[in-house]
Amino acid sequence: ANDLELFRLTKRYGDTVAVRDLNHLIAAGTYVCLLGPSGCGKSSTLRMIAGHESVTEGAILLEGVDISGLPPAGRGTAMMFQNYALFPHLTVRDNVAFSLKMRGVAKAKRHVRADELLELVDMAPYAARRPDQLSGGQQQRVALARALITQPKVLLLDEPLSALDPFLRVRMRVELKRLQRELGITFIHVTHGQDEALALADEVIVMNNAVIEQSGPPRALFNAP
Ligand code: ADP
Ligand code: ADP
Repeated sequence: ANDLELFRLTKRYGDTVAVRDLNHLIAAGTYVCLLGPSGCGKSSTLRMIAGHESVTEGAILLEGVDISGLPPAGRGTAMMFQNYALFPHLTVRDNVAFSLKMRGVAKAKRHVRADELLELVDMAPYAARRPDQLSGGQQQRVALARALITQPKVLLLDEPLSALDPFLRVRMRVELKRLQRELGITFIHVTHGQDEALALADEVIVMNNAVIEQSGPPRALFNAP
């Protein structure tokens, strides 16, 4: 099947159960928003899917293959973080091309690819700049391009918009939905905002106390008009 399946997914840190026996199927191309109170297990779930955290029990199946034992770069997933974490001493182009360099892609080829991605996020004119010469919203677009250059099937976003001012936040929502349409990939987006989930999500997953409390289309869950 062409989807992402979390199967009996469990994460323990010592005695703390951060994620308990999670079972969920996400159809390819879905924009999922993951909500819930602080400490309910959202980040742990995201980090396990990305491969930044080991799975205690259970499996993560992407297109039918268990990726839970694979290194982060070999999974078909990519993660974009809250604080963007761009390398300050690298140009925008080299930031975006970084993971291709790690994979041994030749310089000319990775620059062509990086420029394509910068085009996609509307940042092509800024390729030669350094991150400190960009606004917060621009840095975020670069971080998106950097995550997308590996051609992930699943893009994981940990509160990507929380550092932006309200105006930019609304603009980035539009951009994220456009990318979903153009790329056809799955998004899993951790957010605290119901309004954000209403604007973005095809499906909302609400976690509480390490389990999924509810899931479904945002309008059904939030009683919105
Ligand atoms: P959320 O993202 O919803 O805030 P987390 O996944 O970060 O939730 O955390 C879930 C639970 O696991 C919390 O009780 C948190 O304190 C605990 N936790 C998260 N990361 C670690 C860690 N590296 N070591 C120990 N406990 C952790
Ligand atoms: P968030 O609120 O975005 O989930 P946190 O601030 O809870 O993030 O966690 C940031 C980092 O601290 C993560 O790497 C997480 O694994 C770690 N962490 C969170 N809770 C604990 C904890 N109780 N003990 C040890 N590390 C923790």
